[in-house]
Amino acid sequence: MSFKCLKCGECCRNLNLSKIYADLDSGDGTCKYLTGNLCGIYDTRPLKCRIEESYYTFFSNEMTKDEYYKKNYKMCEHFINNKKGGI
Ligand code: SF4
Ligand code: SF4
Repeated sequence: MSFKCLKCGECCRNLNLSKIYADLDSGDGTCKYLTGNLCGIYDTRPLKCRIEESYYTFFSNEMTKDEYYKKNYKMCEHFINNKKGGI
């Protein structure tokens, strides 16, 4: 089963919460590549923006994929409940 993204774009509007995304931040926490709610460079987006590939590269030694998904869903829920976007 793959990660269920609701395509709300909120994670890409909160980059200021993690310094690893500083290079993408347009200044207010929103990614300079965000177009509407979608990634404008989706096919070439960096590894740190790829949920599946990031798991195998950075987190598979620390937690199961189920745990990883749960952590990510929790962040999605937080972002959606505090959303910055208009949609
Ligand atoms: S916050 Fe979650 S649901 Fe919304 S775009 Fe990001 S990954 Fe998808
Ligand atoms: S590159 Fe794309 S997926 Fe990554 S933060 Fe920017 S808009 Fe979001």
